[in-house]
Amino acid sequence: MSHPHPELTAPPKLPKGGLRVIPLGGLGEVGRNMTVFDYDGRLLIVDCGVLFPEDHQPGVDLILPDFGPIRDRLGDVEALVLTHGHEDHIGATPYLLRERQDIPLVGSELTLALLDSKLKEHRLRQTVHHKVKAGDRLIFGPYELEFIAVNHSIPDALAVAIRTGTALVLHTGDFKMDQLPLDGRITDLRAFARLGEEGVDLFLTDSTNAETPGFTPAEKSITPVIDQVFRESTQRIIVACFASHVHRVEQVLDAAVALNRKVG
Ligand SMILES: [Zn+2]
Repeated sequence: MSHPHPELTAPPKLPKGGLRVIPLGGLGEVGRNMTVFDYDGRLLIVDCGVLFPEDHQPGVDLILPDFGPIRDRLGDVEALVLTHGHEDHIGATPYLLRERQDIPLVGSELTLALLDSKLKEHRLRQTVHHKVKAGDRLIFGPYELEFIAVNHSIPDALAVAIRTGTALVLHTGDFKMDQLPLDGRITDLRAFARLGEEGVDLFLTDSTNAETPGFTPAEKSITPVIDQVFRESTQRIIVACFASHVHRVEQVLDAAVALNRKVG
């Protein structure tokens, strides 16, 4: 790999009131989501995830976002907002904190709890946490943040509306349109509509299968299938799913309890 020529990569100076959005990963690939906002000389980061290597990348454990473009500006970072606890959104956080440990971390209770075990593993103890929930508003430097509930395949996911003096950006994180989620916490489309009326200047959104017409089947629609498999099986049942898909795990445990099965 050749190094990019600095003259070609140095971005032009931002005009006063200008907002620059710098994706450091996550576009055109599934993983290492990380977006940097640059306004009034201060940076805000949304997500800091890893990308898992593929078969043609033997010996590679993790692929990180490219911190290069912000490495000499880490002192300008106001906060790192984590939209949800999936690895491709939080997994690279310890590697960023190794370079500046006191970057304030903002996320929901579950997201920060999942991050916590990672930080311990990396022996990062002096970290700054801001626990938020839907409806909360927080100010970091020139950025005013508002958090909005979204449904996803992990609980406690949030979208974030980012207001600067000149623009309103809505970053949805990952989300799903399940109308009957197990925890009753649906994607807050009313909040999206309210922000729409206020005038969203930039809408950043990511939803797997967004290009497929129709709706994603409700998580609850799997219940009868699980029940049937559990009822018809006479021996041991092995269930595989994403470890972070807490609602799926809950469905399996419910089926096991209903049929008096032991869980290992
Ligand atoms: Zn996700």
